[in-house]
Amino acid sequence: MLFREIVGQSEVKKKLIQTVKENRISHAQLFTGNEGVGKLPLAIAYAQYVSCENRQGDDSCGVCASCIKYEKLIHPDLHFLFPIANITSASGSTTKASCFNPDTLQEWRNSVQANPYLELNEWLENIEIENKQATINAKDCNEIIKILGLKTYESEFKVVIIWMLEKLYHSAAPKLLKILEEPPDKTLFLLISENPEQVVKTILSRTQIVKVPRISDEDIRSALKKKYDESQSKINYAVNLADGNYFEAVNILSKSDKEKSDFNFLISWLRLCYKPEFAKISDWVDEISKTGRERQKLFLNYALHLIKECFEHNGCSMEFSNIEETEKEVLENFSKLINVKNVLKIYEELNTASFHIERNAYPKILFMDLSIKMAHLLRL
Ligand SMILES: [Zn+2]
Repeated sequence: MLFREIVGQSEVKKKLIQTVKENRISHAQLFTGNEGVGKLPLAIAYAQYVSCENRQGDDSCGVCASCIKYEKLIHPDLHFLFPIANITSASGSTTKASCFNPDTLQEWRNSVQANPYLELNEWLENIEIENKQATINAKDCNEIIKILGLKTYESEFKVVIIWMLEKLYHSAAPKLLKILEEPPDKTLFLLISENPEQVVKTILSRTQIVKVPRISDEDIRSALKKKYDESQSKINYAVNLADGNYFEAVNILSKSDKEKSDFNFLISWLRLCYKPEFAKISDWVDEISKTGRERQKLFLNYALHLIKECFEHNGCSMEFSNIEETEKEVLENFSKLINVKNVLKIYEELNTASFHIERNAYPKILFMDLSIKMAHLLRL
């Protein structure tokens, strides 16, 4: 991963490069920031820069032996820890949870190469453990300690990237802490967290924080323009909705035709709730429950966005913004149902549902419960 392949974040890149130039690379750094801002690609690009055999002023060379291995994430001195759970295959056989299992590691490399802005739910869906509690386990921490005791193979530094540090299992924390306190020479820990407040305090205190802010709209817009042959209005729509999250912007823009029916799917649900037709709602719930958690979360976010538009249109006579032309007419009618009496409550219910989806709630119960509440709220 080269720095120039990462969307925006010029300030963070500059600071990271400066630490290498001035030879003050801190041995444990914690990259914090929201989803989709580029913490993982920045950590990988930084590690690649540190290991590059022919460093340029503002980026790795991209062509030396080290860079070529980094591109494929197969450099022998680059190690990853990430959340994982036991994987049960269709045939019923179980792969023990480990970041060092060759198949799991390959899946990780493929996932990161396909999307360096990977989010936890997408990763869990990729390895088909989206309904399990994934953790960074103690066994994998032991394995890392063993590896760090060995000599480096090819580079000056051994690099350990730990993704989603907040998922560190409690029994693994003392092991990691010990090695952060007494790091072997020439070891670089790049830790990544979306929720640093959930990270064990003693570990936090051993790290230098690298804050990764939201990506500017301008940077996301120009990145999307380069990559996607889409109309200006569609790109603006994605940028506005994504709120500094590149992963989300790409998701919105690259929705397949099936997913473009989100709007119809949402409106049909709200209509069923309004009537209410519980037999059909039950079919609807079955359908959404079959999709993955990432899709369900996107659906709820989309619903929040649309309810807000409706309220502003109906209550404040504002023009619809961020809405595609074809959808405006349908919304015109629907927005009459959203008013000062119900808008906050609807907001709260959708937010709560999204919160519980993140925490592995059972989707059938959750969406049925949400539908019953909506049936009531839309009539207020
Ligand atoms: Zn290089």
